[in-house]
Amino acid sequence: MTSIFETDADFQEKLDWVSRFVRDEIEPVDQLVEHAWNVNDPQRNALIRPLQEKVKEQGLWACHLGPELGGPGFGQLKLALLNERIGHTHSGPVVFGCHAPDSGNGEILAHFGSPELKQRYLEPLLANEIVSAYSMTEPQGGSDPTAFVTRAELDGDEWVLNGEKWFSSHANFASFLIVMAVTDPDAARHARASMFVVPVDTPGVEIVRGVSVYGHHEPVGTHPYVRYTNVRIPADHLLGERGQGFHVAQTRLGGGRIHHAMRTVGLVRESLDMMLERAVSRVSGGEALGRRQLVQQMIADSHIQLQQFRLLVLQTAWRIDQEQDYRKVIVDIASVKAAMPDVLRDVAGRAIQVHGSLGISEEMPFGKWVLESYHMGLADGATELHKLQIAQRLMRDVQPAAGLFPSRHLPALRASAQEQYADLLTDEAQEAQEAQEAQEPKEPKEPKEVVAP
Ligand SMILES: Cc1cc2nc3c(=O)[nH]c(=O)nc-3n(C[C@H](O)[C@H](O)[C@H](O)COP(=O)(O)OP(=O)(O)OC[C@H]3O[C@@H](n4cnc5c(N)ncnc54)[C@H](O)[C@@H]3O)c2cc1C
Repeated sequence: MTSIFETDADFQEKLDWVSRFVRDEIEPVDQLVEHAWNVNDPQRNALIRPLQEKVKEQGLWACHLGPELGGPGFGQLKLALLNERIGHTHSGPVVFGCHAPDSGNGEILAHFGSPELKQRYLEPLLANEIVSAYSMTEPQGGSDPTAFVTRAELDGDEWVLNGEKWFSSHANFASFLIVMAVTDPDAARHARASMFVVPVDTPGVEIVRGVSVYGHHEPVGTHPYVRYTNVRIPADHLLGERGQGFHVAQTRLGGGRIHHAMRTVGLVRESLDMMLERAVSRVSGGEALGRRQLVQQMIADSHIQLQQFRLLVLQTAWRIDQEQDYRKVIVDIASVKAAMPDVLRDVAGRAIQVHGSLGISEEMPFGKWVLESYHMGLADGATELHKLQIAQRLMRDVQPAAGLFPSRHLPALRASAQEQYADLLTDEAQEAQEAQEAQEPKEPKEPKEVVAP
């Protein structure tokens, strides 16, 4: 039994193996592999494939999946404990077969793909023989998917796609893309779009250019701008029902967001560990930096933020396991998603500060991690939208107060308590209460008319 505070002994042994494996084998490989997603790079394959075999031997391959799809089906809580150990590495998620966006795209194919699509794309995807991309955001805007204009029209037994997508991560390595396109422009706002599998070698699929995020020194940008011009795909490449694109998208985004957060716990912890080492190593003014109270404050603040965030992530993972339905845990997932960028930016930023000029240099990873925090605030939806969702959900079932004052207004609570316990109150207590009541505002009999400005 695993609770958020305790792990069973067998799984703890696995986690200890993971920690050693990450330090001894994955971290060195990170120094040598340019892009762990690039399955066409022989050097990458020579280094990463043997590590993937070791993970499989341990029964830890594709931990996000249930046994029906070749994973161990550990659930989200155990996945969180695993992901926080590999999250600071570049190659780790690929070595363990639980990397984005393939993890989410695999979920979509498993839920909505025909048997033929599963055989052709899901099986090699789960084996990491191929990788995929998710092509939803458009150049004119990502936060409002109801404004997307990429079209898919049925022509005989083929769909014909036309439009442009932006930031389709890893499309340059992918064998197929999962594309959202408008099929029913006159339907209700959330019933216009559908989801498709588009093989990347279909005529008309064009990578306009690879876009790189700032600070990543890639020869080719890995977040491509993609154009679809009269792209013809078979009718059965539609995923789910026509017009259900938003529903299909939710299948991947819930898991995708919490998995990013699990890995971010690892990145934040790594930042703090490195900050601690520097604090006890670097001497300034005859003393270790860590003797300075302001440095101690940075350490303490970082520890508190990390622990708060980690508990939120673990609790959310535990709730997903209990509910087995991302929609029931939507506030928790949005909370984790919205908290993630601030925690990473703050802690990696303090790590820069404690390391001084070395910290800001390209000889340390902190600058990249600070920028990564901004990725986290955009990818899978901007932070602001998640905060809106949290607030709106929390207010949804709340009733307005009946009168002018809040329902838990202290004078009203006191009066009601006095009435409830009148038999037990001493004369002095009653007199004191009456004196206080005489000075308190009274609820007007008829509320004043409120005039809109
Ligand atoms: C590293 C990375 C990887 C990505 N990978 C993919 C991918 O694989 N596939 C894919 O389809 N997309 C991907 N994206 C795109 C991502 O989904 C979008 O960046 C995101 O949805 C925001 O859309 P936008 O960039 O067009 O910003 P915009 O929609 O232009 O929004 C810009 C800003 O405006 C504000 N804003 C917008 N709407 C509101 C609102 N309603 N209320 C308050 N403020 C608001 C927010 O501050 C927001 O950050 C990726 C992005 C990043 C950074």
